[in-house]
Amino acid sequence: MAKILLTGMIAGQQLTGERPEYPTHPEQLADSFLHRLLRRAKRFHHPDLVITGGIVADTPETEQCLYKELADSQLPFLVAPKSGEPPREQTVADITVTVDAVGIRVQNAAGWNRIWRWGTDRGKTGENLPPLMQAPFIFLLLETDGAGGVVLRQEQLRLPEGLHLRDLHNHTPYAYCCENMTVPRAVAMGRWVGLEGMTFTEHTLHLFFSRTACLEKVPWRRGLAATDQNLAEAYSRLCREQGDDFARAGLEIDIDWQGKLVVPETVLERSALRLAAVHSLPEQAGTMEEKRLAFLGLTEAHLRQKPDILAHPFRVLRGEPEAWTATLWQPVAELLARYGVAAELNFHHGAPPPEFVSMCLERGVRLSFGGDSHELGMVGDFYAHLALLNRLGASSRLDEVLWRERI
Ligand SMILES: [Zn+2]
Ligand SMILES: [Zn+2]
Repeated sequence: MAKILLTGMIAGQQLTGERPEYPTHPEQLADSFLHRLLRRAKRFHHPDLVITGGIVADTPETEQCLYKELADSQLPFLVAPKSGEPPREQTVADITVTVDAVGIRVQNAAGWNRIWRWGTDRGKTGENLPPLMQAPFIFLLLETDGAGGVVLRQEQLRLPEGLHLRDLHNHTPYAYCCENMTVPRAVAMGRWVGLEGMTFTEHTLHLFFSRTACLEKVPWRRGLAATDQNLAEAYSRLCREQGDDFARAGLEIDIDWQGKLVVPETVLERSALRLAAVHSLPEQAGTMEEKRLAFLGLTEAHLRQKPDILAHPFRVLRGEPEAWTATLWQPVAELLARYGVAAELNFHHGAPPPEFVSMCLERGVRLSFGGDSHELGMVGDFYAHLALLNRLGASSRLDEVLWRERI
């Protein structure tokens, strides 16, 4: 049994020109697309081998960056040789692949064989496998069944058509945990992967408190009164610079240990989306019962303020025993139903418990899709979100189950 992930050529271009922040072609975000593919492969497909139809880049740095993505994934990979170099052959279980600059032959001992070519020249043998950086960004998965049969599946990095999805949780360079997000690049990524729009939701904590203050837990301990900076205007200007309705400026709002929101009322009023998040529990909550009361108390204090969405409802309990966390799923689903607030599906760290999501669905609590993107490859990456709803039998009625922004 073997599983091979196969992509066409990967072409990368450095962002240059008069407006280097504004990519005009997916090739200018090739590393982010590749990162997205490899993250999905690692999390869901577990291939024994990743094969690409060669790496072509405009600068040695870009080429190096693409090879680094492949190496960092720690997945075994094979890159097609450049023109003039000898073919490369590799065997995985009963599958043998022979790759050269023109294409690839895949065959097994039972006589199954297929040929794909990287280029688009007519008259050559085999099907064309388009470059990965060409919408809808397709790749193939070949899986052997151990009895001579091969199952072939095509997937794509772009969202399926017709779902009308917005990504309602994205960060900007103002987040201390941001990796490579800039607003123009994230918006370009969002459009290419098929989002209908996106909302930036910067941490209120990072807009109103320095990095040091956050590390010292000042915002939670002392609340908004201890603010030592104000980046709210600069942040909303950054989001507005996009000049159309595709991107909006919302907030991911924290709550201090006294149960007060860490955001001034005037800033809250202007926010296009209110994402409530509990990121910290009081240090004095030592026993499990104290933690439970603190968690439910802060969650409800948030919901009383009528946010649109409760972000990653249980992330603050990461590391606690699941059997214990599971006792909180039902109370939180009931609180969400009572206050009419949506629950976010967020896979940035871990995954939402399917049982909790079912409880929400049973109670009519709406769900929202958040990429929680800290790096560009995560923008609008809803593969896991859709897979979860599919598993719960809810993916065919998105209009009924999803919380949608009123625009
Ligand atoms: Zn968060
Ligand atoms: Zn976030």
